[in-house]
Amino acid sequence: MSLGLDSVVPSPSRVPVRTCTGCRQRAGKSELLRVTARDGLCLPDPRSRHQGRGAYLHPTLECLAAAERRRALPRALRVPGPLDTSAVRAWLEAGSGTNETVLDG
Ligand SMILES: [Zn+2]
Repeated sequence: MSLGLDSVVPSPSRVPVRTCTGCRQRAGKSELLRVTARDGLCLPDPRSRHQGRGAYLHPTLECLAAAERRRALPRALRVPGPLDTSAVRAWLEAGSGTNETVLDG
């Protein structure tokens, strides 16, 4: 019978779990792409370097499209308006991370 103590003991085998903003399925943090919002743009943040709130997506165009359809990203990132996700789309279409330095500004 568990007293719930296992939930507070860090375990190297237990990876952090996040919910995909697109399909709402839970997945290990390392399987998801972190995205952040800046100046009305939604930016991919595969190395978790951006400050502020992040949202998580499967790195697929399908989940990005689902998140857009449901307007889930502005809600998850706590921004008032719509977000331009073209940078995330470009990142996904480029094959996940080959040109991320372009986004560092
Ligand atoms: Zn997903």
